[in-house]
Amino acid sequence: MIPYGRQDIRDEDIDAVVEVLRSDYITQGPVIERFERQVADRVGARYAIAVNSATSALHIACLALGLGPGDRLWTTPVTFVASANCARYCGAEVDFVDIDQNTYNLCMVRLREKLQQAERNGTLPKVVVAVHLAGQSCDMVELNGLRQQYGFRVIEDASHAIGGQYQNRPIGNCQYSDATVFSFHPVKIVTTGEGGMVLTNDSALAEQAELLRSHGITRAPEHMNEEPHGPWYYEQIALGFNYRITDIQAALGVSQLDRLDDYLAQRSARVERYNSAFASLPIRRPWQLPSAQSAWHLYIIRLINSNHQTHRRFFEHLRTSGIGVNVHYIPVHLQPYYRRLGFNPGDFPVAEAYYREAVSLPLYPTLSSTEQDSVIESVVSGLEAIS
Ligand SMILES: *Cc1c(COP(=O)(O)O)cnc(C)c1O
Repeated sequence: MIPYGRQDIRDEDIDAVVEVLRSDYITQGPVIERFERQVADRVGARYAIAVNSATSALHIACLALGLGPGDRLWTTPVTFVASANCARYCGAEVDFVDIDQNTYNLCMVRLREKLQQAERNGTLPKVVVAVHLAGQSCDMVELNGLRQQYGFRVIEDASHAIGGQYQNRPIGNCQYSDATVFSFHPVKIVTTGEGGMVLTNDSALAEQAELLRSHGITRAPEHMNEEPHGPWYYEQIALGFNYRITDIQAALGVSQLDRLDDYLAQRSARVERYNSAFASLPIRRPWQLPSAQSAWHLYIIRLINSNHQTHRRFFEHLRTSGIGVNVHYIPVHLQPYYRRLGFNPGDFPVAEAYYREAVSLPLYPTLSSTEQDSVIESVVSGLEAIS
């Protein structure tokens, strides 16, 4: 089976990990800071806090922004469940905003309408999580305008998007947001096994996120309530977690990040190849916002005029042909957990129509041209099979 995504681990990655294993610190050591500095510099953000997953990063970013019971977080239904769950961890309510027909990211027209309505009802969100689906940035200028008008905070869920650009600047620089989150899960662009990071330019937010990553414990006398009792002294000043990443993982991250530009180029070359192979087929290829340069985590095609049955038959045809296609994502509001919170089919029709038509094809840096040819052939025969 050709998977839809996979990591690329080289000898230099293994050497970097082994070096840490032989060193004094396998966690809470110097490599984590090196990794944080490297990512922050690469994307142009002031602060970086590495954690054990993007899910943890979203959670502590929400808490650091003061999200709590009685508050609301809005996000897109076309995302991984973690983009919404972070609100529930904080005791806040979740609501969704339907997606744009072309980019499949948050629809700014819908968002504006929903904000106008929420202002009348007194139900404005405290936080909006903007997910850069497949690696393509949301319309951040538009979002920033609304953020200023309505006073909400913005977290960019850039789990798909490290290396992507918006207006020729790196995603993660937080120019139009309060914080950005990256994921280093093996299917993402660079990996640490499991891992994530919060990027921000806000020193107070960074300080809070760092505290929450490690039990809410501080060793900095200026943050303590009492004079230190001695050199051993620390204080727990908030209820935090153990969301720490290890130096072992960070070493893998540092080593992987050295190849980010190669990864982006390799992904982009494979996207070009798909784009030309599919030019005359009855499918929608990924549409790109002129101001965005995708990191190409995913290559998502959409069947035209399909229904649930044809979508499923097409998908099964590819799987039977050894192509590890996937669907990103089952709209989050349709998950049983969210149904129990009151969401229903029909609530977000653009997302639901997308779900009936979308298929993610294999895309990763080491996907060979022979493998890609076989994906392309199976797409062609799959379309014939359902026509
Ligand atoms: C992968 C992913 C996450 C969660 O990342 P983890 O590092 O696995 O916790 C969150 N949001 C989106 C959009 C993702 O794709």
